[in-house]
Amino acid sequence: MVSERVGTLSESRGGTGARGVCPFCSCGCGLRLLHDGLHTVGSAPVLKHPVSQGRLCARGWASHEPPAWGGRLLAPEIREGGERRRAGWDEALERAARELRALLEVGKAVGVLVSGRCTNEEAYLAAKLARGPLRTGHLDDPLGASYRALLAGLCPEGPPGEGGRALEAVEHSRQILLLEGDLSVTHPRAALAVLRAVRRGARLVTLGLARTPLSQVAAVHLSLDPLRPFALPPDLLGALGGGNGRPPEAPPTVLLAPFTSDPRIVAATVRALAEVLGSSGPDGGTGARFLPLPFRANTRGVLEGGVAPDRLPGGLALDDPQALARLRQVWGMDPWPRPGLDAAALLEQVRGLVVVGEDPPRSLPAPAKAREALKGLESLVVLDAYASATSDAATVVLPVAALQETEGTLTSLEGRIQGFGPAVPPPGRARPGWEVLFRLLELLGAPSGRAALGAVRAEMAEVVPGFRSLVGSSAEGEDMPAVARAGRTPEPDLRRAGAQGGGDAFGSHVLVLAGAFDWDDDLMVDASPTLRRDGASRRKLFPQGSVTMNPADARALGIRSGWSVRLRSRQGEAVVPVSLGTSVEPGVLLVPFAFREALSGVLGGEAAQRVEVERT
Ligand code: SF4
Repeated sequence: MVSERVGTLSESRGGTGARGVCPFCSCGCGLRLLHDGLHTVGSAPVLKHPVSQGRLCARGWASHEPPAWGGRLLAPEIREGGERRRAGWDEALERAARELRALLEVGKAVGVLVSGRCTNEEAYLAAKLARGPLRTGHLDDPLGASYRALLAGLCPEGPPGEGGRALEAVEHSRQILLLEGDLSVTHPRAALAVLRAVRRGARLVTLGLARTPLSQVAAVHLSLDPLRPFALPPDLLGALGGGNGRPPEAPPTVLLAPFTSDPRIVAATVRALAEVLGSSGPDGGTGARFLPLPFRANTRGVLEGGVAPDRLPGGLALDDPQALARLRQVWGMDPWPRPGLDAAALLEQVRGLVVVGEDPPRSLPAPAKAREALKGLESLVVLDAYASATSDAATVVLPVAALQETEGTLTSLEGRIQGFGPAVPPPGRARPGWEVLFRLLELLGAPSGRAALGAVRAEMAEVVPGFRSLVGSSAEGEDMPAVARAGRTPEPDLRRAGAQGGGDAFGSHVLVLAGAFDWDDDLMVDASPTLRRDGASRRKLFPQGSVTMNPADARALGIRSGWSVRLRSRQGEAVVPVSLGTSVEPGVLLVPFAFREALSGVLGGEAAQRVEVERT
């Protein structure tokens, strides 16, 4: 069924390696996984792949490494009397179901967290588990909030189009506006599309909290105010139009990446952009086309599968009577129709948690809080291929196949649903994740269907529109939504949205948490000997973290690169080394996302904070 667009899944085992999709970012590059029958031993690009066209970035070239070199979970385990012991599959699954049922019976809250590195099929079954037998809306992808924030500013009804050629459209754009953290790191294939457009003569305007490699080739870089990024630079339209004060003549393409960890600020900034680009031009709008960029390989698919505290499978609204009726018919039980908490909030509220392929301390802006919350749970059921802080705290561990060892589909940032098959069998007693979720659903009382991946996909086609359109059709959907005619954007509550510090009088500098995710924090990057080197070197060089400072500020303070400064906010203080760079404006200090924990006492959970800086 998925074969219409992506080639038959049975093609996935080929003479030159198994057909795969890069498991890292959401660009959706195609690759072949070379193997010796038991282990993945190499990765190679697919020459005629419609997205990657025979290229891979460094992460793609190393995509065979995590399953072969990572710390793998090999057998089911259960916790007894504080110790964990190995168990059979039946015993572990029954124990997981018993723990969760016991919590539900006494009215204690349970939740489900799902990673953007899960397949569409796994995400859908996890959403069904939550809104079906677990009767909860506490269901989220920890990195999904930033993607939902991008969408909230554009098309609140859900992700745009499907099966599109958005990257190709970027390459042929004449004007591009890029809101980014650093696209060359977060989404290298999308960055290549922007570069190709610039080489063809496109006018590129970059917008962000710091200068990036792409800002070096931009016609104009506009810095956002770190305390009020949603108050856009007044010359934005003129910059896009050629600097002559006129709006752009051709409809601009707008690429949107989450540039800060606070989803409210991201949503407000995107809404402000939609307002500016939608309210100018000869016909009252610029005709701008937007491309929101999810982080992980399947962040978009996981959302469309129903993993969100306020959405049903298919990205449909919780109060959509037709969607609820269809789910009731397909599931054979009433779907839970109430909203739940997002990942950070649910971790603090629930007593039982099912975690699928995720390690919240690595993904959430407050790692220490997440670790503490995991330790305090009465039941923590973890399905993962890799060992992590989360699996260490689990009461039940259910080892599942890595993406390279299973069959499934992933949905790219363009909405392209791509199938892949197992290159090698899962190690030890690990099983495909969809099978394990299917068994859990059965044990928790969901009406049982046929235990086959084809049957799961057929069910998805009934309730997830993106999957429905794959059946018997290769039509491409709309690539990018046109700009929404937004009303006036309410500004976020500044007391909670990072513009803190007791007013402008306090603090000589603004301390800013960079981006909303760092690939060096990713479990699969950590499991790759090649990819983890950068992060390891950075941590070796700066074990206590670091902040990036403009050289002009360093001169004023009389310090050099590597020297330490004392940062004092109204929340606390910290002594931290500085590295110097012109990527940040004078007056701004940038904290790499991977070092957020070292500065958490000063940032106090905010994305930006006024601080006093003094030489130590
Ligand atoms: S650009 Fe993204 S999808 Fe492509 S190879 Fe790199 S990490 Fe993988």
